[in-house]
Amino acid sequence: MKEFWSRRARALTPYTPGEQPRQRRLIKLNTNENPYPPSPWALEAIRAAAGEGLRLYPDPEAAELRETLAAVYGLRPEQVFVGNGSDEVLAFCFQAFFDPERPILFPDVTYSFYPVFAALFGLPYRQVPLDENFALPLEQFMGGNGGVVIANPNAPTGRDISLGDVRALAAGNPEAVVLVDEAYVDFGAQSAVPLVGEYPNLVVVQTMSKSRSLAGLRVGYALGDEDLIAALNCVKNSFNSYTLDRLALAGAAGALRDPEYLRTVTMKIASTRDRTADRLRRMGFQVTDSAANFLFATHPEASAKALLDGLREKGILVRWWDDPRIRDYLRITVGTDEEMDALCQALSELLEAEE
Ligand SMILES: *Cc1c(COP(=O)(O)O)cnc(C)c1O
Repeated sequence: MKEFWSRRARALTPYTPGEQPRQRRLIKLNTNENPYPPSPWALEAIRAAAGEGLRLYPDPEAAELRETLAAVYGLRPEQVFVGNGSDEVLAFCFQAFFDPERPILFPDVTYSFYPVFAALFGLPYRQVPLDENFALPLEQFMGGNGGVVIANPNAPTGRDISLGDVRALAAGNPEAVVLVDEAYVDFGAQSAVPLVGEYPNLVVVQTMSKSRSLAGLRVGYALGDEDLIAALNCVKNSFNSYTLDRLALAGAAGALRDPEYLRTVTMKIASTRDRTADRLRRMGFQVTDSAANFLFATHPEASAKALLDGLREKGILVRWWDDPRIRDYLRITVGTDEEMDALCQALSELLEAEE
């Protein structure tokens, strides 16, 4: 019954997150979590922060974490905004940078939260079709629109665009904000952070959820021109002054003090990814070139939905969307080598049973 729901609430179609099962025994390749633990430095910092200090509110400015992020990315703290996961940061960006007069552009196949944010904030949008190989038609994102939102690498395809392409988007939309969601950039794409000082309309959003194994801590951040960051603070401080708690602030700063760990983990996942892609191709799958920690795969002789259900029966979760353009595809998170062995074994059994 929605009797007491506001008209706004009644009109919403929320984002559907991937399943978080109660049983721990499943092999979980459905939400792009990192199979490796967070840096010991992060865990140590969280333990140290879990004390009587929790009596006090956290720093609403997150000054120390922003200074650490600024140092890591060669920026000033005024160019850094932090939030409770990058989903929240993206939501603040939609409110801070976009208006209803002109549509925002994003690809037809991309992170399915973008249309949800646009609908929540009453912003019109246009979904530009990717080509048949899921490549971005750059020329269709130039000028005259109310903003551009691009995930690089893209989700769920895993395809990345070059720094030159991001530069072209920022230069080609001088009157609109270009938002680059780099949730997966550490797994092999080129980051646009070096362009931040150059383009006053460019915002780069990253997260600690994927490459830094901290999905449970909820830390995301935006990097951009000081004036854009001021708009984000304006929106945030009109909603919740304390979006990051003391444990998150401490853990995130701890993780940033361990760049070597990030490098080791992301390189390991990239090598598992590339090996798994080769194996899937040998089994007859077409696998999109991925610069992320997941694979996007289709098999000419098997229904993706049947494979999804078959894998589930074998205790393996992957992701599938009932969307006409990608209904034949599975998105498979890259886990440990052992998990990917189990996945390949299960898929080859399912394919044999189909014949
Ligand atoms: C996972 C993901 C996010 C959100 O991550 P948070 O956990 O909210 O930081 C944002 N964008 C894309 C494309 C993602 O896949």
